Amino acid sequence: MNFEDYRGIWVFIEIKDGKVAPVSLELLGAGRELADKRKSQLAGLLIGDGVEEYVQTLYEYGADTVYVYDDPLFNHYRTESFMRAVFDCCEKHKPEVLLYGATANGKDLASAVATDLPTGLTADTTILDIEEDTGLLLASRPAFGGNIMATILCKKYRPQMATVRPKVMKALTPQEGRSGELVRETVDLKEDDIRTKVLEIVRETTKKSSIDEADIIVAGGKGLGSKAGFELIHQFAQVIGAAVGGSRDVVEAGWIPHQNQVGQTGLTVTPKIYFAIGISGAIQHIVGMQNSGLIIAINKDPDAPIFQTCHYGIVGDAHEVVPLLIKAFEKA
Ligand code: FAD
Repeated sequence: MNFEDYRGIWVFIEIKDGKVAPVSLELLGAGRELADKRKSQLAGLLIGDGVEEYVQTLYEYGADTVYVYDDPLFNHYRTESFMRAVFDCCEKHKPEVLLYGATANGKDLASAVATDLPTGLTADTTILDIEEDTGLLLASRPAFGGNIMATILCKKYRPQMATVRPKVMKALTPQEGRSGELVRETVDLKEDDIRTKVLEIVRETTKKSSIDEADIIVAGGKGLGSKAGFELIHQFAQVIGAAVGGSRDVVEAGWIPHQNQVGQTGLTVTPKIYFAIGISGAIQHIVGMQNSGLIIAINKDPDAPIFQTCHYGIVGDAHEVVPLLIKAFEKA
């Protein structure tokens, strides 16, 4: 493998709810810095059906080039079809770095592409840098329960790939009217070649947002007492438009699903506001939420470790304090 053939920093662009996903714009911001340092180009890789309308946005957020696969084959995310497009594009244009958002689709696609190419993949990156002269990507992520930062290198293969957590990188201020180069690509693939068929899309009917992208999270712990007691967390979250999270103990008790667990064996989240209610503050929980903008804890034990981490703490019974908060926010 001749590393000299590989040039450019690329970002896989996700479209969500009819818009470019915020994490893709954040990655263009991070990618712009890497590309400038490496004196190379920044490209977006856009795959979908009727997606050319997003190209201008990508230029405005820093992309020099956008490679587009626009075909009804890509009307829904399917691993096989998207992987094939990314694989072909990598083989043809040889990017030095390819970044994905650490979203459900981004993680799925990146691992499939890494296996097929093959190349290395650093998952859940929070810091990115690049060596100016060699182009070696320095992708860092928390390890050992957040006690160390591990910098993971891909020395033998190209492209170097990483998934990057949402809300960690900063999008650039868009430059209105900025232009770039559009490269239309096609893939030699027919509907019959794809084994996965999308029969139906079932959208969540509740307003609950996914916790790794939420601005506000209301998280509850065993201190809520029971599944019925945990309803208070759902009510509060609904009133303030927050997502619901929780400790591992409440997940194990079956009060909330695993995808809502925050911590070492759950998700790492960085919302603007994090409520920790009836959560003791075990280190395995803290590593998943300690970088939140504002942490507000409610616990009846004044010596609970969570009070060492929070910005504001309320010592009190959740069943008394939370209904007061609900009332106050309902009035506001
Ligand atoms: P508890 O520790 O039981 O705390 C309940 C708290 O509620 C107490 O502080 C209590 O004072 C307070 N309380 C009680 N009643 C009330 C009331 N009425 N009003 C207000 N406060 C009240 N944990 C995670 O959360 N996420 C992880 O990803 C995770 N991964 C782990 C990985 C490993 C390898 C291990 C060993 C553990 C992991 N844990 C994880 C578990 C972690 O160690 C703790 O056991 C767990 O976080 C405790 O959950 P909790 O705070 O809900 O419960």
